[in-house]
Amino acid sequence: SESKEAHEFQAEVARLLHLMVHSVYSNKDIFLRELISNAADACERLRQRALTEPELISGDETFRIRLETDKNARTLSVADNGTGMSREELIDNLGTIARSGTRAFLEGLGEAKDGQSLIGQFGVGFYSAFMVAGEVDVVSRAAGSNEAWTWRSDGQGSFTVERADLESAPARGTRVVLHLSDESVDYAQASTIERIVREYSAHVPVPIVLASETEREENEPDGEEKADKDTAAKIEEREIADGSALWTRSRSEITEEEYKEFYGHVSRQFDEPALTLHYRAEGRHEYSVLLFVPSMTPFDLFDPDRKGRVKLYVRRVFIADDVDLLPAYLRFTRGVIDSQDLPLNLSREMLQSNPVLDAIRKGVTNRVLSELQKLADNDAEKYTQIWETFGPVIKEGLYEDFERRDKLLALTRFKTTKSGDGWRTLAEYVADLKENQTQIFYAIGDNADAVKASPQLEGYRARDVEVLLLSDPVDAFWVQIALGFDGKPFRSVTQGAADLDAITLPDDEKQKEDEAGKGATADVATLVTYVKETLGDAVTDVRISSRLAESPVCLVAPEHGPDRQFEKLMSRRDG
Ligand code: ADP
Ligand code: MG
Repeated sequence: SESKEAHEFQAEVARLLHLMVHSVYSNKDIFLRELISNAADACERLRQRALTEPELISGDETFRIRLETDKNARTLSVADNGTGMSREELIDNLGTIARSGTRAFLEGLGEAKDGQSLIGQFGVGFYSAFMVAGEVDVVSRAAGSNEAWTWRSDGQGSFTVERADLESAPARGTRVVLHLSDESVDYAQASTIERIVREYSAHVPVPIVLASETEREENEPDGEEKADKDTAAKIEEREIADGSALWTRSRSEITEEEYKEFYGHVSRQFDEPALTLHYRAEGRHEYSVLLFVPSMTPFDLFDPDRKGRVKLYVRRVFIADDVDLLPAYLRFTRGVIDSQDLPLNLSREMLQSNPVLDAIRKGVTNRVLSELQKLADNDAEKYTQIWETFGPVIKEGLYEDFERRDKLLALTRFKTTKSGDGWRTLAEYVADLKENQTQIFYAIGDNADAVKASPQLEGYRARDVEVLLLSDPVDAFWVQIALGFDGKPFRSVTQGAADLDAITLPDDEKQKEDEAGKGATADVATLVTYVKETLGDAVTDVRISSRLAESPVCLVAPEHGPDRQFEKLMSRRDG
């Protein structure tokens, strides 16, 4: 393993790289945010490890990210003194795709016509470097290790790994060197880099230093540069981001732009946050919260492997990004929770069950829900957008979180037979109940239009009774166990006798029904007997019903049996 070894990229990576190399995406600046985020993650991970293994950082305890531009060499490098990577880690991390979001992104590309625009909405990680570089070198030395390795690729299907000499490698951490392609030489310009950092990475929680040739040297004629050693060595270093934790500052000092940029860093998305929640909890437990609800659906929203939702910090030190600080039904929320009370050296076991974390989880969950409710009350349009993006996820809470079910039901929006293009709340539904109506009726199906067209609804429509049209996969679950809203139970339109008789028909409808009923009764009884005999054991019963107004017949579930849609779903899961 001493000499240079060539490795093939995993097929998925090769696909992603092809997309990057041939990218015509106009905003290539985003590659820098990805590299800076990786560098910051590496520093934060080492800072966290050093809590229990302080020798890992002895001699150099100040974390930083160093960017260096070199116009002559046409390179840009991003260096950090974080964890670094061993030879195996270089091969694994930069040769395969571990991130569920990236996998989901690639799967999504299968259908999307325009992969290019997706690159811009969704951070694709390290590989985005190949949008601007014809070759990328990664020189890395893992913290505590006495060897360094160089990973190198031109993004064309393979990469090499070879030993690096310790003198030229970072003393600790990783240096990513981009050999910029002809169209991208502008990224060797310090002013360009500074502008991009301000836009996308100004509040990364590790300081960023920019090193570049001084302006004086630039103006000198080419020939003299090499002759004058002093001038050639004139590298100016400036701090361009101070690494202070944005969430510790007070809300009144932070601009929308700063929130947005920080959101980009924690979410790895490029959309605008739909909701920003920033507060400090005081009292029994002290912690700061800076959370965002995105406006765009992440690719892996329904991926069970999805992690990294909310980052846990303790007194500004990153601890973990895979602790469930919020219930699964709020998994679209991104951001940071920073505790004042937890010990810094939290073990994995302590992260799994810890009373302080439990209290934080409870407090933050309640706060997110009340904040959503506030938005729903004050800015219905904005709330509707969030609902349209994340409603199916929030509804998982209706069967997962009994304690907060009423709060969640109040947040739930419905398509109904009366909602038109808009949405209805249960409060609105209940306010509009018909005389003698004691239940909330719902119909379930694969999509709202199909449900709406179902003959099951005819009797309801004839009586002007509103029906909830449920078409998300989760609907079949929560509606079975939800106890009702405002004392009114939920009732499927397909279930048994439809309790419709108590609700009076408008007069003309009633008259029609009466006339049809006269003289027809005997014929219908004969028909029912005939159908019963013909179908035999295939059905439990055949009945005359008031629920149909137009269609002659429909199938219903028995009074106390499971709902038909629920049965369908269960048989699909078993099969
Ligand atoms: P992500 O950051 O979402 O995991 P990336 O494609 O950006 O995905 O990076 C892939 C992996 O490579 C990271 O998870 C990390 O393990 C490793 N990596 C990338 N850059 C660095 C770095 N500067 N220091 C240490 N590890 C890194
Ligand atoms: Mg990354």
